[in-house]
Amino acid sequence: MSTTKYIFVTGGVSSSLGKGIIAASLAKLLQARGYRVTIQKLDPYINVDPGTLNPYEHGECYVTEDGAETDLDLGHYERFLNVNTSQANNVTTGRIYQSVIDKERRGEFLGKTVQVVPHITNEIKERIQQLGNTGEYDIVITEIGGTVGDIESLPYIEAVRQLRWELGDDNALVIHLTLVPYLSAAKELKTKPTQHSVKTLMESGIKADILVCRTEHDLSDDLRTKLALFCNVKKEAVIQSIDASTIYDVPNMMLKEGLDTVTLKKLGIDDSTEPDLKRWNEFLQRHKNPKGEVTIGLIGKYVELQDSYKSILEAFIHAGAENEVRVNVVPIHSEDIENGALEDILKRMDGILVAPGFGERGIEGKIQAVRYARENNVPFLGICLGMQMAVIEYSRNVLGLSDASSTEMNSSTQNPVINLMESQKNITDMGGTMRLGAWNCAVTENTIAHKVYGETMISERHRHRYEYNNAYRYQLEEAGMKATGINPDTQLVEIVEIPKHPWFVGVQYHPEYKSTVANPHPLFVAFVKAVHDYAAKK
Ligand code: GLN
Repeated sequence: MSTTKYIFVTGGVSSSLGKGIIAASLAKLLQARGYRVTIQKLDPYINVDPGTLNPYEHGECYVTEDGAETDLDLGHYERFLNVNTSQANNVTTGRIYQSVIDKERRGEFLGKTVQVVPHITNEIKERIQQLGNTGEYDIVITEIGGTVGDIESLPYIEAVRQLRWELGDDNALVIHLTLVPYLSAAKELKTKPTQHSVKTLMESGIKADILVCRTEHDLSDDLRTKLALFCNVKKEAVIQSIDASTIYDVPNMMLKEGLDTVTLKKLGIDDSTEPDLKRWNEFLQRHKNPKGEVTIGLIGKYVELQDSYKSILEAFIHAGAENEVRVNVVPIHSEDIENGALEDILKRMDGILVAPGFGERGIEGKIQAVRYARENNVPFLGICLGMQMAVIEYSRNVLGLSDASSTEMNSSTQNPVINLMESQKNITDMGGTMRLGAWNCAVTENTIAHKVYGETMISERHRHRYEYNNAYRYQLEEAGMKATGINPDTQLVEIVEIPKHPWFVGVQYHPEYKSTVANPHPLFVAFVKAVHDYAAKK
């Protein structure tokens, strides 16, 4: 029997209340008191993982070291805690059912009728306890996606009910996140939706131990008393979560409200230490008091939805704080560039980032943006598809291979400078089959990459099917685009640079996934610095 304690976070009233940020903030406070904490997200949809989802559906797909394609909340967990997550930290209904059905096909249920209760709920319970059973964590926080009362999340809620009963009050607790809306006509905060959602939770046999109330206005003492009375929680367990100007303020806000104290008390842990948030607060200090400002154009095709490039935006916040500058990221639709507004839009930028992506839409705009950055000496960072676009642009406009392309966009091009990887050629299933997770890269000395990392062997996370075609490497290098990072086992080109340009870097991997508050990613830090230097001279 493990001694790990379990915290479940459910949500009521509305989606998008920020369960992930509350879970990450509580985890941060507990970590800052010395506990080993991890967070898990249970997603009620039927996709096996979010890798097959369009970013417009659920935002960015986050990739872990072990190559899991996961919900973007795992990105918040890593950024807050500076601890890696893995496949086990994100579980979906699709994955649960797939595993139960596979067991059924193998005859593991010995002739029994396979049912939601107990077979699906058992599988969920196993997935939750799998993390605790590693012995690596004192506390596991499990966030249940969706809103209480949804048909889809019922098996999860039932699994939580059972686990809570099995583990006992000292080993498990439930935090319910709700909304306390402000009705401007009545000039009042309203508690009724919270009362109803606590009641819905109770109908499933779960009593909330702690209420975290999202609100736009402070909860008065009377209101806290009322919520406590009607929702069966102690008054100290009514926690207000008021809108914050940055998500990085939330741990301090939760500290002030005593979320960590009441959590530990309910778990029977006697602990009077104060969380050590020194480094966190140093970061906040730098983030909130920038000495300068830069503007970076983020060229992508999912720019309408901020969540599509979540990790990139957060990496800029970390790198901005490190450089003590405010980074204004301007989302630019690659199709707008195609429609002729290139100069007008890009001349305001101090730096250009071409984002990752898939498919043909908007790629000509990305290529034009690369060309603008290259010809005008604007600092440039290309990530994944962005790096591939940089290679295509150079091939077309410097090597003169006018039809150069990626076979992803043009399968009949005479010059496939970006080509499907050999290992991908026989793959037919789309889910979970890209080149994923951490791979090594050998960095050439005396290059930007080498200066940035200070090492000759690095490891970064990946998510792609196409690669730089080595058949063009000699020509490209001769013409001035150098391959400065190479996978030592496969020779796959991971980094390209143009030494004649002040700061031009394209990377096949995704540095943004590894940037955290405690460890801002060196490539973003260096890019922001280059952008700042460029802006100063402009
Ligand atoms: N579509 C490209 C590939 O599969 C790039 C992927 C990405 O940007 N993540 O190689």
